[in-house]
Amino acid sequence: MVALRQIPDLQRSTHVAAAALESQIGNTPLLSFRHITAHLPADIKIYAKAEWANPGGSIKDRAAYHIIRQAELDGQLTPGKTLVDSTSGNTGIAYAMIGAARGIPVKLFVPANASPERLAILHAYGVEVVLTDPLEGSDGAILAVRELVEKEPEKYFYANQYNNPANWQAHYHTTGVEIWEQTQGSVTHFLAGLGTSGTLMGTGRRLKDYNPAVEIISLQPDSPFHGLEGLKHMGSAIQPGIYDPAVADRNVVVSTEATYDMALQLARKEGYLVGISAAAAMVASLHIAEELADQGRPGIIVTIFPDNAYKYLSETFWTR
Ligand code: PMP
Repeated sequence: MVALRQIPDLQRSTHVAAAALESQIGNTPLLSFRHITAHLPADIKIYAKAEWANPGGSIKDRAAYHIIRQAELDGQLTPGKTLVDSTSGNTGIAYAMIGAARGIPVKLFVPANASPERLAILHAYGVEVVLTDPLEGSDGAILAVRELVEKEPEKYFYANQYNNPANWQAHYHTTGVEIWEQTQGSVTHFLAGLGTSGTLMGTGRRLKDYNPAVEIISLQPDSPFHGLEGLKHMGSAIQPGIYDPAVADRNVVVSTEATYDMALQLARKEGYLVGISAAAAMVASLHIAEELADQGRPGIIVTIFPDNAYKYLSETFWTR
């Protein structure tokens, strides 16, 4: 009798379906390399978290899930409210997926030059998309969403990924813990690109808590005009409220050209068809590894591959 009563109760809850989907977020594999790292001494290793293994296809599932859960707990996201935010794509896809599973309406402000694949995915999930001036980049989308929320604050939950501490806390509670456990505490360097900076802030803080000697390295495009989708040139962009440059021990810059070349090498030599910011992370990780080799020092470098290449296949460099 008990079992019979429980089944219809479970089926009525949309959160059962959402829970199954959401339980797939995180605990991503740690990849190693064979050919691209073959010139390094045996005591220097590079590993990368394969974040496309998340159900929405990117690392941003972690942040979006934590932002939504925290807002529900705090009472900021109540039934009937629409979740709004600005996003260059991946966070939007994650909001759209979780929103669909939980029955939360989602409205997103996206720069019009976001890749056509990303826009198609957002439309497929059925969310409302407002395209903003491509020349203003992610900053234009930020300003547009702020204007909307100021007009009718009661209608919306502004997820505000650039300023919401739940963004970096997602990585403090998941990504950082996973890296520590997967390397059995042997990680010496952690490197990640800066978009909202949530990944670097949360993972960096957690790894420093485990071992203050772990070196935290941020990665940025080498110029304001770049092709590294998902990453920000902090000097020329609106600084995210959650960004604290002091979390990183150092910063490295990467060029768009070197990144495109690395994306091809990763696909053709390792079998990893990664997104552009992942290729940039590999360029920077190799730079750190080669520096260590020159100094005769060992190292376990861990970086993040935020997504795979499926959303960037319309870029022309793949056919080189
Ligand atoms: N790479 C890609 C492809 C992204 O979508 C993002 C998020 N904008 C990042 C890197 C940067 O991650 P974070 O926002 O946590 O700094």
